[in-house]
Amino acid sequence: MIPFSKTLLAWYGDHGRDLPWRRTRDPYAIWLSEIILQQTRIAQGQAYWERFMERFPDVQALAGATEDEVLRLWQGLGYYSRARNLHAAAKQIAAQGRFPDTLEGIRALKGVGDYTAAAIGSIAFGLPAAVVDGNVYRVLARHYGISTPVGSAAAKKEFTALAQSLLPPEQPGDFNQAMMDFGAVQCTPASPACLLCPLADSCAALATGSVDRLPVKEKGPAVSTRRFDYIYLRCQGRTAIRKRGPGDIWEGLYEPIVCDNRSEAAEGVPGDSSPAAATAADGPEQPRLLRSVRHQLTHRTLLVDFYLWEPQQEPVLPEGYFWISEAELDRYAKPRLFELLLEEIPK
Ligand code: SF4
Repeated sequence: MIPFSKTLLAWYGDHGRDLPWRRTRDPYAIWLSEIILQQTRIAQGQAYWERFMERFPDVQALAGATEDEVLRLWQGLGYYSRARNLHAAAKQIAAQGRFPDTLEGIRALKGVGDYTAAAIGSIAFGLPAAVVDGNVYRVLARHYGISTPVGSAAAKKEFTALAQSLLPPEQPGDFNQAMMDFGAVQCTPASPACLLCPLADSCAALATGSVDRLPVKEKGPAVSTRRFDYIYLRCQGRTAIRKRGPGDIWEGLYEPIVCDNRSEAAEGVPGDSSPAAATAADGPEQPRLLRSVRHQLTHRTLLVDFYLWEPQQEPVLPEGYFWISEAELDRYAKPRLFELLLEEIPK
């Protein structure tokens, strides 16, 4: 075995993290963990994995759930397209009758890219496919002194080929998990533990004093800012919500009245021309500002004003909205932002 791989596996034997999905070869449990951890830290994701496994112990149970049910259980994890894809993929697997056991078959599942397919394939089925993600880029860039900017197509090719050449065919799952853990625990982005590193003797970055310069990063897309208002309408024990439509990061989730004067038509508040606005603008029953928040998404900063609007008379709702009893709100899956608004609403 290549010395790098041997050392890494020995380190993993001593320092690998003990996680519940590592105690099984059940591809469903492993797939679920990989999807949850795509954009979520382990500390947060583990509780969700346990909840999903309890509620949907196998792929048939997940496939038979409603989308609302899946989104509700996912609530708080963000990146809701992952939950929708998870649900769609469960239906694909249930229709096939068993979990696919080839890389192509796994890669064909909704929401599964190269990384996730390699992770599931190697861990659940022992397929010799190396994973490549931020941890792998960092460990390999430093250890082998590679300065190709990560994020480029050239880097993906180069790092994948290198990781693949290091992968011991008899232990692909352990090796991939060792790379993950080593990047997360030992060779961390800001403060790698080089003094205690078993790979220190062969590490090019350490030898050349370039640990903090590697990996080289490509500039990501600019972060844009968007402002809008979130209005909680309360009238005779009821409130109004709507379901987000297709093609949106919050597709399928429910939201309160949104007033966006900058990029969409204003809806349901004084100052616009909707029927609800006409009702509200008549009296002193103006929406009351509760709090302004800054909410960070990957490529967008949201600046949102939270309002509470309590008219005496039921206003006509903007298109797409419907009334529900306030007591029923728990039954609807919501983006984190709506939950934050609800925390401000007096009972
Ligand atoms: S010596 Fe430091 S930079 Fe090199 S692999 Fe070990 S932790 Fe990473």
